[in-house]
Amino acid sequence: MLTRHLLKQASTCRHFLSNSKTSSPFLTKSILFSSSSSSPESQSPTNTFVDDKVNDQYPTGTSISIDRSALYNLPDHSHEPTSDSELVKHLKGIIKFRGGPISVAEYMEEVLTNPKFGFYISRDVFGAEGDFITSPEVSQMFGEMVGVWAMCLWEQMGRPKQVNLVELGPGRGTLMADLLRSASKFKSFTESLHVHMVECSPTLQKLQHHNLKCFDEDDNSDGVEKRTVSMLAGTPVSWHALLEQVPSGMPSIIIAHEFYDALPVHQFQRASRGWCEKMVDVSEDSMFRFVLSPQTTPATLYLMRRCKWAAPEEIEKLGQIEVCPKAMDLTRTIADRISCDGGGALIIDYGLNGVVSDSLQAIRKHKFINILDNPGSADLSAYVDFASIRHSAEEVSDISVHGPMTQSQFLGALGINFRVEALLQNCTDEQADSLRTGYWRLVGEGEAPFWEGPDEQVPIGMGTRYLAMAIVNKKQGVPVPFQ
Ligand code: SAH
Repeated sequence: MLTRHLLKQASTCRHFLSNSKTSSPFLTKSILFSSSSSSPESQSPTNTFVDDKVNDQYPTGTSISIDRSALYNLPDHSHEPTSDSELVKHLKGIIKFRGGPISVAEYMEEVLTNPKFGFYISRDVFGAEGDFITSPEVSQMFGEMVGVWAMCLWEQMGRPKQVNLVELGPGRGTLMADLLRSASKFKSFTESLHVHMVECSPTLQKLQHHNLKCFDEDDNSDGVEKRTVSMLAGTPVSWHALLEQVPSGMPSIIIAHEFYDALPVHQFQRASRGWCEKMVDVSEDSMFRFVLSPQTTPATLYLMRRCKWAAPEEIEKLGQIEVCPKAMDLTRTIADRISCDGGGALIIDYGLNGVVSDSLQAIRKHKFINILDNPGSADLSAYVDFASIRHSAEEVSDISVHGPMTQSQFLGALGINFRVEALLQNCTDEQADSLRTGYWRLVGEGEAPFWEGPDEQVPIGMGTRYLAMAIVNKKQGVPVPFQ
């Protein structure tokens, strides 16, 4: 009832139909898996490895001992010998001075978020001109629906006067802009908000500032900190590098869209001597290559923890496992905050509700490439293990976890079909085309209560590959639309 009411009101707002939203066939990060089932065995896009029986006698000393015998030959690198980029020099430097290979997680973290050379740090990587496309960039309706979810939660929280609205990894800030714009009619909601953008990239922070139509209030001399306010809904906005820096002591609504998939994963491979961590090394001809750790690595503790949460049959059939300690720790931080201060979190990403086997992928300019090819020039991302998020959150008291459900079910139950109809009543033909295609891309292939659009070419959708999960304080009851 509440969602319908909100949607009806929202549809009376001046429709904002951005032509910048693209409906053309650019790559979403989940699309690689479009033709495979979601079982863990079918997740293997690249880099397949087999066990071998010959390396139990491998040296276990602390010297540089690497093990390539369990690995298949990797595909050749596509690049011609060129002078190394700054990031490549940096990675080779770490490997050299460390005296041995680094974990895939360390490699991924450096590639994506190294403060000087990381993939996200100094450019806009989204959209047609960038490397991949995400749901908020596909259609304004995505941010609007997340706004409906946030308002419903705020209602369930008893309409608190002050709320932190936190977004983790906001990209261009499009989701938040669409959310604030569509929520701006609901003054009591927007007046309660302080928006916090958790973003590591200075370039993207600036873009977010621009897209949220922010202005920086003049410094006043009484020592009060200068405020930045978004003109979209009159809400104050702050930026942080870490969630921990967002002030606590008031309830939070936390949104993480395509954030978890960028967190670094450790990869393990089953060998005859047990689970070995896959590492990144530099070969004699100065190319990056994968090797297996000869002895137990610290991340094995997280592997053990993850395996304890799974049924033995689930683990037995896997030759490779990915674990994401940062996802487990972040979930714990989110759950602790929600448990103490109240509120809830919404996580939307592509992933599985179970152990992830081998999903790490690299995308450059809407094409999949080798993970080790010219690091820093391509996005790296991995399937999100929603079961692990659930277990990590459930270690905290007073919170409850809901879902995952498919993006299609989530957006459908929040009423995206009403929203598309409302928007279609007042738009140009070009905007109508963009709305229809955007709608199908968001919910296509799923079981949303579909809007009866024309059934010409339905694009491959993100409806079932993307999953939504909520973590809330138990006081609020079950969040919309997970009832
Ligand atoms: N949510 C956006 C962008 C997803 S891409 C969308 O859906 O369009 C991942 C985002 O997370 C980028 O903004 C990137 O700069 C940011 N990011 C990645 N790792 C981060 C980290 N460790 N800390 C803070 N921000 C991070």
